[in-house]
Amino acid sequence: MTSEAASRAGAVLEIDLGAIVANWRTLAGMTAPAQCAAVVKADAYGLGARPVAQALADAGCPLFFVATLDEGIALRRQLGTQPEIAILNGPHPGTAGEFAAHQLVPVLNEPGQVAEWTALGKSLRDNAPAAILQVDTGMARLGLTAREFAAVIEAPPPIVWRAVMSHLACSDNPGHELNKHQLACFTAAAARFPEVAASLSASCGIFLGRQYHFDLVRPGAALFGVNPCPGRAHPLRPVVRLQAKILQVRQIDTHQPVGYGAAHVMAAAGRIATVAVGYADGWLRSFSRRGCGFIAGMRVPLIGRVSMDLASFGVSAVPEAVAYPGAPIELLGPAYGVDDAAADAGTIGYEILTALGSRYHRVYRESALSPPK
Ligand SMILES: *Cc1c(COP(=O)(O)O)cnc(C)c1O
Repeated sequence: MTSEAASRAGAVLEIDLGAIVANWRTLAGMTAPAQCAAVVKADAYGLGARPVAQALADAGCPLFFVATLDEGIALRRQLGTQPEIAILNGPHPGTAGEFAAHQLVPVLNEPGQVAEWTALGKSLRDNAPAAILQVDTGMARLGLTAREFAAVIEAPPPIVWRAVMSHLACSDNPGHELNKHQLACFTAAAARFPEVAASLSASCGIFLGRQYHFDLVRPGAALFGVNPCPGRAHPLRPVVRLQAKILQVRQIDTHQPVGYGAAHVMAAAGRIATVAVGYADGWLRSFSRRGCGFIAGMRVPLIGRVSMDLASFGVSAVPEAVAYPGAPIELLGPAYGVDDAAADAGTIGYEILTALGSRYHRVYRESALSPPK
């Protein structure tokens, strides 16, 4: 925490670009000869689409997925014309021309989007630029139904298909029977497009085995260190470290309440350290009374409720020499990763990452935070 900006911020968020690239290489190695894309929607899961996508592009990632047209336009400006950029949500009515103008590949998710893209091709007096077709195989979120898909097969629109894809609903649960059902449905759908790349799996699907890899995989969360096989060991590196600064250390008497709602009452006298991170920074209110931090490697419990800009930790058990105003409490790091935090907050690692706030001072590092597990 040396720079002036770092000294003013309430917390410093370190993002290890080297670990993200290493994770992408690990996943690409597991899935070769399939192509390994990178999903960098929602600002690369809150970690910063610009630096993250640039590092991955420099490492050779050929294809990026984002969710929205605006995310795609920003990424196209950032990356130049080289890598392919696909837009998961596809075009809202009237926006197909902008996809073409920015060289963005839409995922076409329903018949109206297919019609929109077909009309664009006609207006360009050519086949429409390439698009990805999404079929629904059991999630009932985006994608053509079986009947809509049959209609496309019977009367193929003049579209060059870059890929045909689907998305798994239960891939974080290897034993779930829906995985096999979706695999069978997708295998049948992909067979109707023998010359077109097929793509089924995101992070967790990659860990279901080779038959789920097809020609193209679409990991997001695993790149950022979220465990793609919950409850089991995985080969990915941690990517983030969040260190909050102590604003104040207080000596509190027995029976004295702490924080909003007097939700915590001291069972014994002790010291409380309050840090400049709260739910407005994405340190979720559901951490109240359940979260923890680390000071110099020692676990300190979160005490009482998380406030908008503040949270308090019980530091009675750690020496005063390490718990003083200005000293860091580690809220995320190798000892307490995004999945650990998610378990305490009653959510998933994805939400911990995408909630990470805009007030942190962000530091992008090239080297690994820690060696691979
Ligand atoms: C978000 C998303 C992904 C990436 O998912 P992860 O679980 O983060 O790897 C891939 N495909 C689709 C359709 C998505 O919406």
